[in-house]
Amino acid sequence: MAKPLIAGNWKMHGTAVEAAALARQLVENEHSCAAVQLAIFPPILHVGLVALELSGSSIALGAQNMSEHESGAFTGEVSADMLKEAGCTYTLVGHSERRTLFGEVDGTVADKFEIAQRSGLVPILCVGETLQQRQQGLTLAVIAEQINTVRKKVGLKNICRGVVAYEPVWAIGTGEVASPEQAQLVHRAIRELLGPGGVSTSLLYGGSVKASNAAELFAQPDIDGGLVGGASLEADEFLKIAQLMT
Ligand code: PEP
Repeated sequence: MAKPLIAGNWKMHGTAVEAAALARQLVENEHSCAAVQLAIFPPILHVGLVALELSGSSIALGAQNMSEHESGAFTGEVSADMLKEAGCTYTLVGHSERRTLFGEVDGTVADKFEIAQRSGLVPILCVGETLQQRQQGLTLAVIAEQINTVRKKVGLKNICRGVVAYEPVWAIGTGEVASPEQAQLVHRAIRELLGPGGVSTSLLYGGSVKASNAAELFAQPDIDGGLVGGASLEADEFLKIAQLMT
């Protein structure tokens, strides 16, 4: 059985010096959560230097985003192969900030998922409903649509080889966290959508996770780990969250 995954999305925060220092602090203290697989997702410019800090440690490296194209004339983009070469194990695909702020649609997310796996990366497929969709009772339909678009592209077996992160849009960066019951219900639905192959697929919860609320969330039977944004920028807080997963 794989270790539970606790992933830290640093978003667009920090200088190179700060990124290196944060990575170093995590490496120095990773023994405090040896039962958990830690992964960090620095801003793309800092991936190379964070990779150097992580060498010899068991903390994995990931990217926050990647191109849906393999290579070519796509100014400003970064390919899955480049991320792999830089030392990344994981990449987020379809983070809600990419969907809402940068117009990423399910089809693009599916293309990214496929290319990530082809390049040997483990995609973390982010899914989640907006507040309005939740209020309209559309949560499970939205999640199913997001997953099914990827499924049509890569097949269920390949989705199950990835990671799925349930991140209600209304809980990301807002301080408002899904209740353990709300999160569990969606995680259970995702597990069912994935079928028998999904039994061992890692399902992460993300959305304002902190040390003060993580234990209850992580105690849910279908929550296998966490995707942590803001709280991953403080080494102590991030490590405390990881310790609650064990
Ligand atoms: C995220 O960026 O994926 C996230 C969950 O952010 P936060 O923890 O800050 O809500």
